[in-house]
Amino acid sequence: MASINTVGVLGAGTMGNGIAQVFSQAGRKVFVVDTFPGALEKAKAGIEKSVRKMAEKAGKDPAAEAAAVMGRLSFGADMAVFEGCDLVVEAIIEDLAAKTDAFRKIDAVAPAHAILASNTSSISITKIAATTKRPGQVIGMHFMNPVPVMKLVEIIRGHLTSPETTAAVVEASKAVGKIPVEASDYPGFVSNRVLLPMINEAIFCLHEGVATREAIDDVMKLGMNHPIGPLALADLIGNDVCLAILEVLQRDLGDDKYRPCPLLRRMVAAGLLGRKSGRGFFEYERK
Ligand code: NAD
Repeated sequence: MASINTVGVLGAGTMGNGIAQVFSQAGRKVFVVDTFPGALEKAKAGIEKSVRKMAEKAGKDPAAEAAAVMGRLSFGADMAVFEGCDLVVEAIIEDLAAKTDAFRKIDAVAPAHAILASNTSSISITKIAATTKRPGQVIGMHFMNPVPVMKLVEIIRGHLTSPETTAAVVEASKAVGKIPVEASDYPGFVSNRVLLPMINEAIFCLHEGVATREAIDDVMKLGMNHPIGPLALADLIGNDVCLAILEVLQRDLGDDKYRPCPLLRRMVAAGLLGRKSGRGFFEYERK
């Protein structure tokens, strides 16, 4: 397996930005592709701000660090740039049809040796892989939010993912300073199968008037030692993303214990998506 020097990232949202940033910070050349006008400008500004902040904290020169990291990043709307990539990480919306369509397109342009990874939170890697001509080279690289800060990458082996692909992605994760942990391809993997029912239950508590939003988060922070409350975490993840994950868990595990709270559905319908929209369970300054 060739070493991973050039990386493609599809989707320049919350996660795609972070993924592009960590690969560039580790010295890789990165091509970021997004089809939504405005997403790329926002991504550039967001990454630069984050790199400067991290450099300041580490006592490095923010301007020099930003110049180096931004210099290895290219932004565009055309997937043709993936023809030069050793690894392409997809981080678009959490929707099976959108992801399979994207993987068909990436598969058509990426070189034969390239590994195709998805940052999906819950969608089957096996299903995504089956839409490509290289299922052995398709894998889940589930980075956590915020990517530059969180250590874990949950590595999801699809049914046909080869041991060589897994080994290469484990190495690539370590090379960007992350700690890879492997899981098999079942809905929600480990992380979201355990996390999302807790978040959903917190939303039910709010919906049923058990406690205020602040009280619910305080109980989990002060009583369970969680660094962030479940409602604030839902806002950080994105309420639309949380809803999509719960729908996959309910459908694919065939168990109504994962039924999304009606309040979550209503909030997503109202556009209250959390931090990225400026308001979710709490209010935020628009970026
Ligand atoms: P987001 O809404 O912030 O960003 C998605 C981006 O993808 C947007 O910029 C959009 O313009 C772009 N996009 C959508 N369809 C596209 C297409 N067909 N081609 C190119 N670009 C397209 O979403 P996000 O929170 O970054 O989530 C991305 C993925 O990462 C999802 O699969 C999600 O489940 C997963 N994930 C999210 C989190 C989290 O905390 N937000 C954590 C782990 C994994």
